[in-house]
Amino acid sequence: TTFDRLNIQPFLIEALVEQGFKKPTDIQERVVPGILNGYDIIGQSQTGSGKTMAFLLPILNKIDATKNEIQAVITAPTRELAQQIFQEYEKLAAYFPEEAPITAKTVVGGTDRKRMADRLKNPPHLIIGTPGRINDLVKNEGLNIYSATTLVVDEADQMLDMGFIEDVDQLASRMAETIQMLVFSATIPEKLQPFLKKYMNQPRHVHV
Ligand code: AMP
Repeated sequence: TTFDRLNIQPFLIEALVEQGFKKPTDIQERVVPGILNGYDIIGQSQTGSGKTMAFLLPILNKIDATKNEIQAVITAPTRELAQQIFQEYEKLAAYFPEEAPITAKTVVGGTDRKRMADRLKNPPHLIIGTPGRINDLVKNEGLNIYSATTLVVDEADQMLDMGFIEDVDQLASRMAETIQMLVFSATIPEKLQPFLKKYMNQPRHVHV
C-alpha cells in the first residue's frame, strides 16, 4: 500500500488500512521519516490534517513493548484534546501484537489524583495528558517519567496562551537526559522561542 513508504511496522499499516485510510496525509509524509530518524520536529498544520497520526505512528513504531516503562509523554492543552489523541491511539490498538501490546493511559485533571497515581503504578508505555496534571503527579505522587525519551507538545501556541509552557518545561527537565521533542502548533509565536531553543536540537521545521 501507499503506507509502505512510511517505513512503519506492518501491524500499524494494517491498522491504517482497516480504518479505510487510503494514503498518508501531507503532514504524515513529511514528518514520519524525520521522527523515525530521531530528529526534533516543529510541525505547523491544522487539526484535520492527520497530524495526530503523524506523531503517534512513529512513536508507536519505536516503543519497545517488552519494557515495562513510560517511553513517551504526549501533552495537549485541554482534557478534550488529550482525549482526542487517546482516541486516535485506540483506533490502532486492536492491531497491536498480542504478545506485546503497546499500552497508553490518559492523565488529565478532573479525576481523583490518588486513584490516578495508583493506576499508574503499573506504568503504560505512553502517557497522554495535560501538562499540569502530569506534572502534579510527577511532583507530588512520585510518577517517574525519567525513562521517557520522547515528548510531544501539541497545540504549543495554546499551551503558551494558557500558561502551560512552564509545566511542559518542568516535564521536559524530569524526562531522560536526551529527549526527542516534537512540537505541533498552528502558529509559532515569538514568545515560544526561548522554550524551543532550550530543548530542541536543530529542529526540522515542517509547514503544510
Ligand atoms: P487530526 O488532524 O489528527 O485531528 O486527524 C483528523 C482525522 O483524520 C482523524 O479522524 C484521523 O483518524 C484521520 N486520519 C489520520 N490519518 C489519516 C489518513 N492517512 N487518511 C485519512 N484519514 C486520516
